[in-house]
Amino acid sequence: MTNYYSDNRDLKFHLTHPLMEKIVVLKERNFSEKQEFDFAPMDFEDAMDSYDKVLEVVGEICGEVIAPNAEGVDAEGPRVVDGHVQYASGTRLNLDALIKSGLMGMSLPRRFGGLNFPIVPYIMAADIVSRADAGFVNIWGLQDCAETINEFASEEQKAEYLPQVAVGATMAMGLTEPDAGSDLQAVQLKAAWNDEKETWLLNGVKRFITNGDGDISLVLARSEQGTKDGRGLSMFIHHKAKGGVTVRRIEHKMGIIGSPTCELVFKDAPAELVGERKLGLIKYVMALMNGARLGIAAQSVGISEAAYREALSFAGERVQFGKAILRFPAVYEMLSVMKAKLDASRSLLYETARFVDLGKTYSQISEERRLEPEERAEMKKYQKLADFFTPLVKGMSSEFCNQLAYDAVQIHGGSGFMKDYPVERIYRDARITSIYEGTTQLQVVAAIRGVTTGAFLARIREYEAMKTDPELAFLKRALIIMSDEFEHAVNHVMAVNDNEYVDFHARRMVEMAGYIIMGYLLMLDANRDREYLRSARNFTRLAKAQVRAHSEFIGSSSIDDLGSYKYQQA
Ligand SMILES: Cc1cc2nc3c(=O)[nH]c(=O)nc-3n(C[C@H](O)[C@H](O)[C@H](O)COP(=O)(O)OP(=O)(O)OC[C@H]3O[C@@H](n4cnc5c(N)ncnc54)[C@H](O)[C@@H]3O)c2cc1C
Repeated sequence: MTNYYSDNRDLKFHLTHPLMEKIVVLKERNFSEKQEFDFAPMDFEDAMDSYDKVLEVVGEICGEVIAPNAEGVDAEGPRVVDGHVQYASGTRLNLDALIKSGLMGMSLPRRFGGLNFPIVPYIMAADIVSRADAGFVNIWGLQDCAETINEFASEEQKAEYLPQVAVGATMAMGLTEPDAGSDLQAVQLKAAWNDEKETWLLNGVKRFITNGDGDISLVLARSEQGTKDGRGLSMFIHHKAKGGVTVRRIEHKMGIIGSPTCELVFKDAPAELVGERKLGLIKYVMALMNGARLGIAAQSVGISEAAYREALSFAGERVQFGKAILRFPAVYEMLSVMKAKLDASRSLLYETARFVDLGKTYSQISEERRLEPEERAEMKKYQKLADFFTPLVKGMSSEFCNQLAYDAVQIHGGSGFMKDYPVERIYRDARITSIYEGTTQLQVVAAIRGVTTGAFLARIREYEAMKTDPELAFLKRALIIMSDEFEHAVNHVMAVNDNEYVDFHARRMVEMAGYIIMGYLLMLDANRDREYLRSARNFTRLAKAQVRAHSEFIGSSSIDDLGSYKYQQA
């Protein structure tokens, strides 16, 4: 039996990170739910055992159902029937298998039928499902919209909608419109209160909405007529059963074909306001998108895993010039760099997930009781780290995933261009990861403050101060040199004191921070388990070259150079 969890030792390694004990104790409020729910864990070991068992089930469904269905789903795709989506037949089977095993609402509280899982094991499930089928993970993974309901909706709304998610209702996130993509402040879909019907009614069009015909949708709409910016937008819940929304079409896409990307028409669609008016974009969408960005980072890591495995297996079998191509330096180098990027992305993914867990859990506890001063300080620390690391991991891991998919096709040679091998689909599926939930450029816009405020550098210096075995000192030395180069480059840019100049170099600076942080994380992984030494060494060498290249570029540029890059608008 193929099991996508137990056949990958890296997953258990990250699940058992030393910080997990603190996360679990906080999340389980010292295991106080044991009296109320007999399936609640009684201690840390019990909780870890239940994550392990649930992930085993996810791994088995992925290996036995979802992965074998992936090709058929990609060929069949979803359809529109009478204004609604009909999934490809394999998609329905995948979803049913996960629902039957209780794998919806994984992170929701037990009182709503959820498993009360921390983000780490939930994201791990998303990582596993993505390896099996990157298109399908969108439909299953949109359950994390329920987190936003749990965080901001009223008790009545939570009681109504969250139990539905826990038994299999699918979700959607309706933000984008034809004229509002990266710039969501431009959203026009109209929300107006109707006295007679005593409800909000939504009118307008949404575009590119994944699983747009899902049961429960969170919709961003303009509730304050006459406004033009984000302060006029509010967040609404629309339930499919209330009607008023039809699917005009499903997009014909390059990849993730099983995931229906819908154009939606809202005609007097009844909806409920979530939280307060005018906070839709400013507060709720930001929280929603951060969760979704972490999900796309997990998708990217899962796709990278699939690409690496396909490439490795092909390279071991394909013989040219009398030997397996795996034995040519050009090929084994490519594979080792792929593995190093995969390990680095995964390490950053789970580091970020831990920060999110701690920041969120402290915040939930603060609503139940007054936090101690040191707890409050920890909450702030982890929330800040989560805010900066989320766009960093989304940006870096999605770009790496594209690079891995490209190299996996390359290793297959002409066969990689054919539909006979899964890499052809993996390559197409990978492409979206650096576009949706905010393009890489927009992740840089979100992450750059981590550079300019010194937050990334401060965290880098914290990693530097962590004790590691003398055997790894050569890695730390290289990383310290890179950190100094990074600091120097940032000072150079900041000294110019010009926002456009900062924007011009923003991606380079964010990437430098990303490479150094990933290098440190792999060093720490190698400190726990020497299996990661190989990737730590190979990644550090790669990072050194990248950091040096960016630092050279920045150091040799001045604000006067920007003119040679600019275009006149036609
Ligand atoms: C398959 C798919 C599924 C999707 N699913 C959903 C969904 O479920 N829900 C939802 O609401 N949306 C969804 N989207 C929309 C997606 O989030 C947007 O497509 C994405 O955010 C980019 O917006 P855009 O396509 O309008 O591109 P644009 O915003 O027009 O961007 C075009 C280019 O300009 C660059 N750019 C724009 N602004 C800036 C800036 N300030 N600085 C630097 N560069 C900039 C971008 O990086 C990009 O390279 C989906 C899209 C696709 C393709």
